[in-house]
Amino acid sequence: MAKKTKSNKSELSREERIARVRDKLRKTDTGGGGLGFLSLKTGKNIIRIMPEVGEMEFFFQTVGRHYFPNKKMAYCPSFTSEGELECPICELVDELYKLGDKSSKALAKELRVSRQYWMNAINRADQEAGPLIFTPGVKIFNYIISLINDPDYGDIYNPDEGTDLTIEKSGSGINTDYNPNPRRKITPLHAKDEIMSKWLEDAKDLSWVEVSMDPDEDAKLSEGHAVYLYPYDRLVEEFGLDEVDLDDPQFGGDEDEEEEEVDEDEDDDEDLEEEEDDEDEDVDEEEDEEDEPEVKREVTRRKAARKSSRRKRR
Ligand SMILES: [Zn+2]
Repeated sequence: MAKKTKSNKSELSREERIARVRDKLRKTDTGGGGLGFLSLKTGKNIIRIMPEVGEMEFFFQTVGRHYFPNKKMAYCPSFTSEGELECPICELVDELYKLGDKSSKALAKELRVSRQYWMNAINRADQEAGPLIFTPGVKIFNYIISLINDPDYGDIYNPDEGTDLTIEKSGSGINTDYNPNPRRKITPLHAKDEIMSKWLEDAKDLSWVEVSMDPDEDAKLSEGHAVYLYPYDRLVEEFGLDEVDLDDPQFGGDEDEEEEEVDEDEDDDEDLEEEEDDEDEDVDEEEDEEDEPEVKREVTRRKAARKSSRRKRR
């Protein structure tokens, strides 16, 4: 069984796999449709970060995403809400790390939250596209923070007196690198007031919203928001987390011989991430190579116990 599922997946071409992820993103991200993400090209990119709009508190929104081995994606309620909501997938990841054997750790690494910081931005090379959602990972975001903390730059997203950024993208796959720098001049978002106003109107409200247990209500509840979070119990239900069986090939397989294939999956994901201009933080909390080949079955039992005992906070 394990082999069959793996090879089916690898029969998909890279384009097909990317198309699936994009399709999923399209369906998950918005009730508004036509959602545009800013994609960095290899070489020099010039972008302008925009200020907060709508209900956004800051110019950026933290967004956590979990990618499943079957390429399904879920927003992480915990990271996205900065701890206000709880996330059953993060809890599963913690438990897998605690199990400590190789295949559990490999799966934990694959499932763990990928951290991004979403913001509206203008791609200077394609201004006709208007505001796009720029989704840097930790490295670029830390650089943006350092600029904002630097009194010479400050609020680089200020529409009247902000600063464009140059981001040089090089390499590919896991070797993709980003080198951001501020431009020298302070400039407005756009020289023409009417275009600037239109851009500020068109920019997406990236503040998160929690939807209900009922999929039919999603569009209404998430209206105007690009990031919507499932309630705890709905995540458990939709991703079958209360039935997680480590023997299931979808959840990493059962045999020690699977290890190589799990590694291949990780590479696949890195390709995908590169394609989406992610440069997610690579937190290698658990890099030790201790062997503990016996896969325990505790996760399933713990899930079942937890389901009845724990509820989300809101
Ligand atoms: Zn999570």
